[in-house]
Amino acid sequence: MPTTAPEPSPATATTAATTADQALRQRARRVVPGGMTGHLNAAALPPGYPQFFQRGQGCRLWDVDGREFIDFMCAWGPNLLGYHHPEVEAAAQAQAALGDCLNGPTPRFVELAEAVVDTFAHADWVMFQKNGTDATTVALMVARAATGRRKVLVAHGSYHGAAPWCTPVPAGTTAEDRTHLIRFRYNDVASLEQAVAEAGTDLAAVLLAPIRHDLGIDQELPTPAFAQAARRLCTQAGAALVLDEVRTGLRLHGAGSWEPLGIRPDLSAWSKAIANGHALAAVTGTDALRDAAGRIFTTGSFWAGGVAMAAGLATLAVARRDGLAAHLDRIGSLLRQGLAEQAAALGIGIRQSGPVQMPLVLFNDDPAWEKGFTFCAEALRHGVYLHPKHNMFLCGAHTEADITLALRATEAGLQAVRQRHGAG
Ligand SMILES: *Cc1c(COP(=O)(O)O)cnc(C)c1O
Repeated sequence: MPTTAPEPSPATATTAATTADQALRQRARRVVPGGMTGHLNAAALPPGYPQFFQRGQGCRLWDVDGREFIDFMCAWGPNLLGYHHPEVEAAAQAQAALGDCLNGPTPRFVELAEAVVDTFAHADWVMFQKNGTDATTVALMVARAATGRRKVLVAHGSYHGAAPWCTPVPAGTTAEDRTHLIRFRYNDVASLEQAVAEAGTDLAAVLLAPIRHDLGIDQELPTPAFAQAARRLCTQAGAALVLDEVRTGLRLHGAGSWEPLGIRPDLSAWSKAIANGHALAAVTGTDALRDAAGRIFTTGSFWAGGVAMAAGLATLAVARRDGLAAHLDRIGSLLRQGLAEQAAALGIGIRQSGPVQMPLVLFNDDPAWEKGFTFCAEALRHGVYLHPKHNMFLCGAHTEADITLALRATEAGLQAVRQRHGAG
């Protein structure tokens, strides 16, 4: 809409932008509600964090003011192998030269479907989408089509996307959107059993993240007893066990995050990392659910786009060839060990939880994450991009040398915490 009011002159604007980032934020606020929606809104981050980025390469990011960071958020998951990975981008560009969004899929669709079924141990088939929310939503549709039932069990506080049925902020949704969800506590067998009993004969699915990675609290690995109970209860009820692998997929284990536990889901939802930053999501399932999956109507204008599929094929191939999971494990262990030694030497109580491939650093006696903000703001000033309360991510491009550099920044960050908040 053309504006009728005159542009505010620099003199009357509330604050004059002094950086390119501030100038873009001011322009964005005029034409985008809140300036930026959702998890990427930098207003939730410590002071000094940029909102806008110029480019990414490997494990490094450059903001629009030219500051360079070693990045430990990895685009909040999608960057698995390194930004602008040469093999992934070559595959994507070769497909882009042929076509992306056409009247139907390209051969990459079948090639990628074969590769996905080959990669994920439980998978007999796959359906592609674009975003993680698409995948979790489609997985539940398949479960409901297969069972003819309504109830879905979801853990308190767990994130499964931003559709009305799962968004963590209820504005713009109705209670009815969530009528058929029943909550239980992650890693609490009794609570899960109680929720299953409540669902009774109407239980369609149990939807679980492979690890507990809720915002702002320590991460938790599933106890074997809990994972076994989830599998047993679903089998007994004839319901689908659905793993939400959107965040964990390809980082914890190449064939599925619960493979080390020896437990396989009926359905899994994937996105974020599977095409190394290109928009791709997938639902995988077992033969028992194949007919139901074929009966639901689900689609999207861009879901069969060939470029992301070419990128996905290259991502799966490189991750497997390079032994990505082992690399992330090694690099993540170095970071965790270095941080633990620094914190101990400075007498600062930190907690590092969850798998080393997805680091989370929380401070003792820090309910409002104030120490975390001090830590991250100082590390950022030293060129390292961390997050104070969301799990972070490692990628294939992080090297031992990057970890050594990053640990200099975390040392400064921990010293700032000690100075401002004291030891303890
Ligand atoms: C990010 C995420 C989603 C949603 O994915 P989008 O691509 O943002 O829609 C779902 N589940 C989990 C566990 C996630 O981390």
